[in-house]
Amino acid sequence: MKTAIEEREGKAGFERYLSFLQESHRHYEISVAQVLKRNFTSLRSMMRPAFLRHLLALHPFESIYSRASRYFWTERLRRVFTFGSMYMGMSPFDAPGTYSLLQYTELAEGIWYPRGGFHSVVAALVRVGERMGVKYRLSTPISSVELDAQGKRAVGVTLEDGERISADVVIINADLVYAYSNLLPQTSYSRSLQRRSTSCSSISFYWAMDRKIPELTTHNIFLAEHYRESFDDIFKEQLIPKEPSFYLNVPSRIDPTAAPEGKDSIVVLVPVGHLLDENQGIGRKGLDVQSKQDWDAMVAKARQTVFATVEARTGARNLQGALVKEIVNTPQSWKDVFNLDKGAILGLSHSFFNVLCFRPKTKHPSIEGLHFVGASAHPGTGVPIVLAGAKLTSEQVLEGFGMEKPWQGKTTGKQDLREIDRVHTLPLLSNIHIVVLAVVFAVCLLLYRIRSSSCVNLADIIDRS
Ligand SMILES: Cc1cc2nc3c(=O)[nH]c(=O)nc-3n(C[C@H](O)[C@H](O)[C@H](O)COP(=O)(O)OP(=O)(O)OC[C@H]3O[C@@H](n4cnc5c(N)ncnc54)[C@H](O)[C@@H]3O)c2cc1C
Repeated sequence: MKTAIEEREGKAGFERYLSFLQESHRHYEISVAQVLKRNFTSLRSMMRPAFLRHLLALHPFESIYSRASRYFWTERLRRVFTFGSMYMGMSPFDAPGTYSLLQYTELAEGIWYPRGGFHSVVAALVRVGERMGVKYRLSTPISSVELDAQGKRAVGVTLEDGERISADVVIINADLVYAYSNLLPQTSYSRSLQRRSTSCSSISFYWAMDRKIPELTTHNIFLAEHYRESFDDIFKEQLIPKEPSFYLNVPSRIDPTAAPEGKDSIVVLVPVGHLLDENQGIGRKGLDVQSKQDWDAMVAKARQTVFATVEARTGARNLQGALVKEIVNTPQSWKDVFNLDKGAILGLSHSFFNVLCFRPKTKHPSIEGLHFVGASAHPGTGVPIVLAGAKLTSEQVLEGFGMEKPWQGKTTGKQDLREIDRVHTLPLLSNIHIVVLAVVFAVCLLLYRIRSSSCVNLADIIDRS
């Protein structure tokens, strides 16, 4: 890392990189302690002194790009250390500086891959649930949440086939904006959610190749030459960029279960704008939701760009010829198949007024017994964040029933520490400090005595005269 950074940024570049790491480390530690592990149920939750004290250190009012520009002086490294904001579907020119914590986690904690693919995380959670007596009903869409006669309490759900299931509590994990708009009665709040800024969408390719592509490593990021313009195309125009940046993952490079022997599987994520609603879409090219033809053209353009860019930059040859099977997701299929509002793959945006107490709450504001969990609820998007949010929602549900949290009071094992592992804190004052303080104190005392005796003498003189 040192050599690579110094090559681009000069001798002092590595120290600046370490300073960037220090700042992003703080962003990470504060965010985990003060945001990820806490619920924000009202404006008052944000007024906690412990949180306010740290707010400015999180740099929420500056963009990641402008923060990174303080530490990296070449455009190349500014791009390298800011592209990560796309992991939560935001432009580096808009995402709050706080989110440099994403780059930090990659550098400090590494990139984790669940063997067998991401679904193995779901499978593991299912096993835990089953052990505890949970019954899962898969492929059973819900068409509405049942409310009591006053519309003040959730009492169950109605399935798409008409079956009704009653419940003491309903927790919605489907996309929150979709749920407010489709599973609950429409309100001014649900309409306001529709107008909030959202993350981008993607054209995603899942490719089976008939051979290995050795020029590709596990994680490959290809950045557009016209970096800022490519984000403007996505976030301002809601289009596929003229020259897209994209992420290409080869899971079979590290996971033999991801492809047959001697072959590769590839996942490509090309970020594009989200779907426009009917009003916004009129008169615009690109993501016109009415035009299927447009979609085909954009998918073809994305595929062609990925092949051409990979071949030009890595030296790989004839990728199109090696492709034997393809699955594609587009903004329209993210919406139709996964019920993601506007096809925005990472939910609501994470701009300042869409996070903390401004993000939709994990508990419905006026309907009792109705909770939310997932990307568009607090704390936000991404699998680890959603799982942290699941814990917060579970705590809130248990609190509602006056039940104890089973994970509370669990010991951390610190009592088993050996002497050699004991933390030694330095005394607040060293011997030198104590001596210096004693001398200063003695001098002050002496000066005070001299001053008060001269005052007494002066008073005597005045009295006598
Ligand atoms: C292409 C892509 C790549 C990503 N890569 C990463 C990554 O590398 N790392 C990472 O941490 N995050 C990644 N993410 C983000 C991550 O997948 C999401 O943030 C996360 O899955 C959101 O969790 P969720 O529970 O809110 O929603 P989901 O995981 O979408 O779960 C919502 C569930 O609700 C169900 N549902 C919807 N409507 C209904 C209904 N009416 N009735 C019943 N069920 C319904 C859906 O079928 C779905 O199972 C990626 C996302 C995408 C799209």
